[in-house]
Amino acid sequence: MSPINVETIARDADFIQRLTDIRRDIHAHPETAFEEKRTSDIVAAFLENLGIEIHRGLGGTGVVGTLKGNREGTRTIGLRADMDALFIEEQTGLPYASTVAGKMHACGHDGHTTMLLGAAEKLAKNPDFAGTIHFIFQPAEEGLGGARVMINDGLFDLFPCDAVYGVHNGPKEPLGVVKTCVGAMMSAGDTWQVSFEGTGGHGAMPDKSTDPTIAAGNFIATVGNIISRNVPSSERAVISVGHINGGAFDSPNIIPSSVMIRGTARSFSPEVRDTLEKRIGELAHGTASAHGVEAHYKFIRRYPPLVNTQRETEVAVQAATGSVGAEHVDGNATPLGGSEDFSFMLEKVPGAYVMIGNGDGTDAHFVHTPKFDFNDDLIAHGVAYWMNIVGIELAA
Ligand SMILES: [Zn+2]
Ligand SMILES: [Zn+2]
Repeated sequence: MSPINVETIARDADFIQRLTDIRRDIHAHPETAFEEKRTSDIVAAFLENLGIEIHRGLGGTGVVGTLKGNREGTRTIGLRADMDALFIEEQTGLPYASTVAGKMHACGHDGHTTMLLGAAEKLAKNPDFAGTIHFIFQPAEEGLGGARVMINDGLFDLFPCDAVYGVHNGPKEPLGVVKTCVGAMMSAGDTWQVSFEGTGGHGAMPDKSTDPTIAAGNFIATVGNIISRNVPSSERAVISVGHINGGAFDSPNIIPSSVMIRGTARSFSPEVRDTLEKRIGELAHGTASAHGVEAHYKFIRRYPPLVNTQRETEVAVQAATGSVGAEHVDGNATPLGGSEDFSFMLEKVPGAYVMIGNGDGTDAHFVHTPKFDFNDDLIAHGVAYWMNIVGIELAA
C-alpha cells in the first residue's frame, strides 16, 4: 500500500462529516472512568456494522474489534484509543458541549475514539493487508489505569499482538505535527505520602512534647536533594509536594501530633523510579528519627514510564511522514512530564505512542481545562496515520 496522505482522507467530505458528527455526539455525552457504557455501545455498533468481529467486557466497558486482512499473513498489531472523559465543568459554550453536569471530554478522547473508528471503516472496506488488526478501545485512561485492567482481564492472552500503537492529540501544538521519540517519552507518575507522628503538646512548652512540624519542615526543605544527589545527571526526575496538613487553623498554640505530606514523583526509568521510592522513604525515616518522632511512609505506584521501542517508533515516524510529510514529523521530541496508561500496554508488547498537534491558534487550550476541545480537522490526520501504520506493519 502506498502511503495515505491527510488530504486524501480530508477530501472524502461525507466520511469526515459522519465522523465529525460521531465525535461531537460523544463529546456531548461524556462518560468517566469505567462508565463508558453509551460510548462503548456506539463503538461496538459501528464496528459490527462494518462486519468487524467484536469482543466486549474487558475492563468492563472495553471493546476489541478484530479485522483480518484479505492477504496471507501472521503478524498481528493492536491499535488503541481511549474513551473516557473527565470530571470538569465544560465552559466552551459550543453547540455540542457536554450535556452532563460536571463531566466533559477535556482530553480529546472523544476524538481519539473517532479517529480509530474512521480507520476501522476504511480498513474494513478495503482490507488489502496481510495479517490481523485488533482495534482496542479502552476505558479509564484518566487516573484509574483502564489499560492495566484490560490487560489483567486477559487482553493480550485473548488478543496477542506483535506490536501496539497509541495516539494522543498534542494540545497547543501546531496542527497535525507529529511528535514521538525512542525510549521513555512520558514519565512514571507515582504518589508518595509521609505522616510524621509525635506526641504534640502545648505550644508554650515544646520541651514537653515531640514535634512533627519540625521534622516535616526539614523533610520538605531537603526532599528535592534526592534529585540532585541520587539521580544520575543523565536522567531526569521530579519530586513535588502537593499537600500539607497538620494542626487546626483555630489552634495555633497547639503543637499538632501529626503532619501529613503528600506529593508526586516522576521518573523516566524503572531504576530511577526505584531510587525515588527508596530514598524518599529513607529521608522520611531519618528525618523523623533525628527529631524524635515517627514517620509512616507510603509510595503508591500509579503509571509506569511510557517507553517506545526503537523499531516501532521508526514505523510510527514513517507512517506519520506518509500522512503529513517529513517536515511535520519530529521523531526526537523532548520527553513529557505527564503520564499515560498506554505505558501498561508497552510494558507487555513493543510499540510506540505519538502525539498529533491539535492546533496552536489563539483559541487553543490545554487538555484538562474547561475550554479545551478536540480539533475535528485532526480526524483526517488520525485516520491517515492509522492506515499508514497498517500499510507498513502488515504490508502485503
Ligand atoms: Zn487526560
Ligand atoms: Zn488524554
